[in-house]
Amino acid sequence: MEKKRIGIIGGGISGTCLGYHLSLYDQAEVTVFEKNTVGGASTAKSAGTVCLFDDSLKNRYWDVRLYGFESYLKMEAEEKGSAGFDKTGTLVVATNEEVEKVIQTGIALAKAAGYTGEYITDKDRIKEILPDISTENILGAGYTQDDGYFDGTMISNTYAKKLQANGGVVKTGVEVTEIKVEDNKVKGLKTSEGIEYTFDVVVDCTGPWSKFTGEMAGVDVPIWHTKAEAFFLCPPGKKLDYTFPVLKYPEFYALRAGNNIFICKSHLSMDLNNPMHAGQWDPDKLPATGGTDEYFIDFLLDQLEAKVPGIVDSGLVSSWLSYRAEPKDFWPILGETPVEGYLLATGYGGNGVIEAPAASRDLAKLIMVGESTPLLENWAFKRLLEQ
Ligand SMILES: Cc1cc2nc3c(=O)[nH]c(=O)nc-3n(C[C@H](O)[C@H](O)[C@H](O)COP(=O)(O)OP(=O)(O)OC[C@H]3O[C@@H](n4cnc5c(N)ncnc54)[C@H](O)[C@@H]3O)c2cc1C
Repeated sequence: MEKKRIGIIGGGISGTCLGYHLSLYDQAEVTVFEKNTVGGASTAKSAGTVCLFDDSLKNRYWDVRLYGFESYLKMEAEEKGSAGFDKTGTLVVATNEEVEKVIQTGIALAKAAGYTGEYITDKDRIKEILPDISTENILGAGYTQDDGYFDGTMISNTYAKKLQANGGVVKTGVEVTEIKVEDNKVKGLKTSEGIEYTFDVVVDCTGPWSKFTGEMAGVDVPIWHTKAEAFFLCPPGKKLDYTFPVLKYPEFYALRAGNNIFICKSHLSMDLNNPMHAGQWDPDKLPATGGTDEYFIDFLLDQLEAKVPGIVDSGLVSSWLSYRAEPKDFWPILGETPVEGYLLATGYGGNGVIEAPAASRDLAKLIMVGESTPLLENWAFKRLLEQ
């Protein structure tokens, strides 16, 4: 059987994870093009939380969450540090009955899969886990010790290494400058090296850049950028004397980052119609650090004052701005587009680390075997045309 030649644009978690899943098929010939470094863009600025239960991904996508989590646990078990796992546990706070119900269902799912999880209403016990929290105005909290956060850049590099071991090619420092389309069918692409490559399939995994790369194929990729502004706080007294868990509220989340605490407004609380939250910008102009707005730090400090007052007097150590690629309905865009052979794996928004393994598993199957899955149907490009 002839090999299928697949070109992937983008070496973030989306492109490397897809490249790895494709490389598991004998008939796949995979080349990943990354204009800078592997996992160095949005993926590097990510918090990397993959929690067993929280509000970032609906419980109906439990398989996606579990497959992501267990893929990274397996990676970490094969080689310590290769997924950068920090097992801090997660505390998800219920501020109303709707959130409480979601947490309880999530706990049941996690327990059925063999993990620990408990819904705690005893406020003293919640304070034992997170002494700096305010337990006023909360109903309870879900807690597990089994999860935490990962390192997206480490994961991307591990996937890149694995796909190369399976015969794939990763070209870093090589920008795709043209996508060759004839009679509405992809033929290949051209790069900044001035080389033309022939491909049967080109998959665009450029996340926040996919608006621009899509134009090269004549496809209007309907994504917006939401601002992901992350702030690093040094808690009062310099060092916390307890393990700060991933802390999730509907409005924001926080986690341990070395001796500091990372805080960020949650992606599902972003409004695409608010120009302070969302727009369409040039990701090449993002600075490595800084570039943040007063609005977001003020919002987060107000949140901390009400909810985690024990750390509100922290010093601000650093901050960064990044863009999350969000379609209008905040779900990814996977699979076929109106141009034959030009596929998308983009729009992961604030959940790319969680979602990339299951999405890549299914997309690789579609490309290599021609079989779709319910996940691909739900996250297909065509749903956005229908909307
Ligand atoms: C602050 C923040 C916190 C987050 N927290 C979480 C979290 O806790 N959990 C979670 O699951 N997700 C989280 N996310 C979301 C997650 O990080 C993203 O969804 C994911 O990293 C997107 O990966 P990607 O590969 O699509 O994009 P990117 O990592 O941006 O990769 C795209 C790549 O394409 C390359 N590229 C672009 N154009 C070209 C071209 N023409 N030729 C070659 N290469 C090109 C770029 O250089 C880049 O490396 C967070 C994101 C941010 C910003």
